Amino acid sequence: MTEVFTKPFIRQEPIPESAIAAAVEVLRSGALHRYGAQPSQVAALEIEFAAQTGAAHALAVASGGYAMGCALRALGVGPGDPVLTNGWTLAPVPGAIAAVGARPVLVEVGRDLCIDLDDLEAKAPQANVLMLSHMRGHIADMRRLMAICDAHDIAVIEDCAHTMGADWDGHPSGRWGAIGCYSCQTYKHVNSGEGGLIVTDDADLAAKMILLSGSYMLYARNGTAPSEEVFARHKGTMPNVSGRMDELRAAILRPQLADLPAQVARWNERYRALETGFRNLPGLHVIDRPASEGYVGSSIQLLADDPEKIPGFIAGCAARGVDWKWFGHATAQGFTSSHHHWAYVEAQSLPQTDAVLARLLDMRVPLTFDLADCAVIARIVAEEAAESLR
Ligand SMILES: *Cc1c(COP(=O)(O)O)cnc(C)c1O
Repeated sequence: MTEVFTKPFIRQEPIPESAIAAAVEVLRSGALHRYGAQPSQVAALEIEFAAQTGAAHALAVASGGYAMGCALRALGVGPGDPVLTNGWTLAPVPGAIAAVGARPVLVEVGRDLCIDLDDLEAKAPQANVLMLSHMRGHIADMRRLMAICDAHDIAVIEDCAHTMGADWDGHPSGRWGAIGCYSCQTYKHVNSGEGGLIVTDDADLAAKMILLSGSYMLYARNGTAPSEEVFARHKGTMPNVSGRMDELRAAILRPQLADLPAQVARWNERYRALETGFRNLPGLHVIDRPASEGYVGSSIQLLADDPEKIPGFIAGCAARGVDWKWFGHATAQGFTSSHHHWAYVEAQSLPQTDAVLARLLDMRVPLTFDLADCAVIARIVAEEAAESLR
């Protein structure tokens, strides 16, 4: 009998009861605007997230994409300015760069799925800002990356949509560059539907981003606000580009952030079960994770030897309930796209990235799967690989 997997790959865990209770309390108060509520859930979230990441300042905003746009604006990036970024990432990243009228300069990615540091070094003279996407949770050698960027006076913004809770050499993702940006959207590591968080140690950048996000003259109510003296330098010069977080979402997020380390452990158990099952299959390769990388296994990727055989393999798995995304499609599908689909970005030649994407398979690892589910998935993938990739 052919085994079939029946659980959906997109089902979330319920919001924790403590978060539901906090949300109900906010709703009863009627005070949903962060600058109206006192005490404020958003300000408390900022204090807690800054402490959790070891940052001097945190700002809660409307989305991860908003966080990245806000970071670019605070760094003074404007129309026509070049911004280095990964040649493989998701659409909100080039979108945030396009939103400020800037020009993405795409950097190759390697078979480790990280930004290619040799290509970064070669392109470094072209820009003053790197929007670094830790795409699907793969973290580049951050010591070498920062050395390259420091040598070229490049400010680094980290897109940590897939690395909230991850680290490199024990130092949190989002804390290597000038600014770290996180998403709290349903498919990331904490879930408030939509939402974003920003961290920085730089008081001037923090003040600018707080003002940009729409604080009016209530900026001192940010949970980690810099001093009045710092705001005095930027008041009136920063446009109000409203993108605040509301009290309801902050109330939902605070208990989830407290739970994050436990959730990371649960993700990694599932990731390792799948990784073990996917190792040594014909025509497929797991991505080796460097010892310095403290990852969060909320998704898993494989590289196939023969791109021609991928559609048949994906169809065979799909018929048995196992969902793969493929980055080699000719057109954008679901959440998945490649740089060829971003018509608003100047076309760029990335032969190495294209060769990787043509072979790249991607699977979500939802926490609604248990270890027995992972074993079923691993068996099905092994059988389908034997069938269509040998
Ligand atoms: C989801 C995502 C973002 C942006 O997050 P939103 O909150 O959806 O705006 C940024 N980068 C990557 C790689 C993402 O997957």
